[in-house]
Amino acid sequence: MRAIVLGAGVAGLACAVELAERGLVVEVLERGERLGAECCSWYAGGMLAPWCERESAEPLVATLGTESLAWWAARFPGTVLRGSLVVAHGRDAGELRQFARRTERYQWLESAGIAALEPDLAGRFNQALYFADEGHLDPRAALAALAARLAALGVPVRFGADALACQKKTLAAQAAGGTVIDCRGLEARDVLQDLRGVKGEMLVVRLTDVSLTRPVRVLHPRFPVYIVPRGDGHYMIGATMIESDQPTRITARSMLELLGAAYALHPAFGEAEIVEIGTGVRPAFPDNLPRVQLIGGTVYVNGLYRHGFLLAPALARQAAECVLAAANALEVMRADSRERRLA
Ligand SMILES: Cc1cc2nc3c(=O)[nH]c(=O)nc-3n(C[C@H](O)[C@H](O)[C@H](O)COP(=O)(O)OP(=O)(O)OC[C@H]3O[C@@H](n4cnc5c(N)ncnc54)[C@H](O)[C@@H]3O)c2cc1C
Repeated sequence: MRAIVLGAGVAGLACAVELAERGLVVEVLERGERLGAECCSWYAGGMLAPWCERESAEPLVATLGTESLAWWAARFPGTVLRGSLVVAHGRDAGELRQFARRTERYQWLESAGIAALEPDLAGRFNQALYFADEGHLDPRAALAALAARLAALGVPVRFGADALACQKKTLAAQAAGGTVIDCRGLEARDVLQDLRGVKGEMLVVRLTDVSLTRPVRVLHPRFPVYIVPRGDGHYMIGATMIESDQPTRITARSMLELLGAAYALHPAFGEAEIVEIGTGVRPAFPDNLPRVQLIGGTVYVNGLYRHGFLLAPALARQAAECVLAAANALEVMRADSRERRLA
């Protein structure tokens, strides 16, 4: 059976991998000229944090998100399973207690426990929450690993696919009994009209005076920020949440807030080199929950909001199950009508 996947963000690549691993003949069509050129996934922090995300997300996000750690670890050797840490300065201790009330699967740490996990944070915080069952990855390396896995499975990823080429291929696939999986992110608003954009701004900095080995969230009443190690002295600092579908440049206020939080985590961030400033627009439905839905014969996988890397594995599994169930139902109907003709 043939499947065309539209979009090579994390949703599209994960769906293509799931389908190809189940034996389908898959082709990915991506509008951008190269991996990450036009996708939100390129700017993600790469946190796989189902339990921390419970602070603001529905239980479904944690339930689906727990699938992600093993899925990524099996397909991307760069997946780091070292948990995550949540800290707050003394004056924001109430924020830490509130975070604890809203989440689960953590352990309270005192100063010595923090230092044991992250020696460079020794003496900086009195208390922290440690979520041992979480992980993180470098999103760009993870996307490249999925693309490499697809190549090994014989799946072409065609970049620079224009609208006409996509339309021709999807019509041909559908006419031949194949399926289309639409993972175009925010661009799918032409069909999914309640999809909206939530802009996120991020920085990548480089410094050698501090070494962190797991994501650290710094709580603050106005601008909670996280810092994710990327290796080789690089750290991603993110991310703002702005109701906007415009991937415009970072504002001065956001820059101050991101850098201020990093500096509050450790003053060595004041000496960091700014390597990159980026913005991505997260595709989100009104309830901020993802959807896998079958509309007019096409499977739409969208609304990954701030959980693309966390949720893509579970959504890809659901999409593959949906495609195979539809194909089986069709096969049963065909067999039934063949039997009737023979009778
Ligand atoms: C700053 C920031 C930090 C984040 N941090 C995290 C995090 O730590 N953990 C986490 O899990 N998530 C995080 N996210 C969220 C995550 O990045 C998104 O949920 C995810 O990228 C959405 O993926 P997607 O594949 O649906 O969309 P996209 O990544 O936008 O991919 C859609 C693709 O479809 C292509 N396309 C569009 N139209 C067409 C067409 N007509 N034909 C072919 N292709 C088309 C686009 O070019 C694009 O490549 C973060 C997001 C931001 C912005």
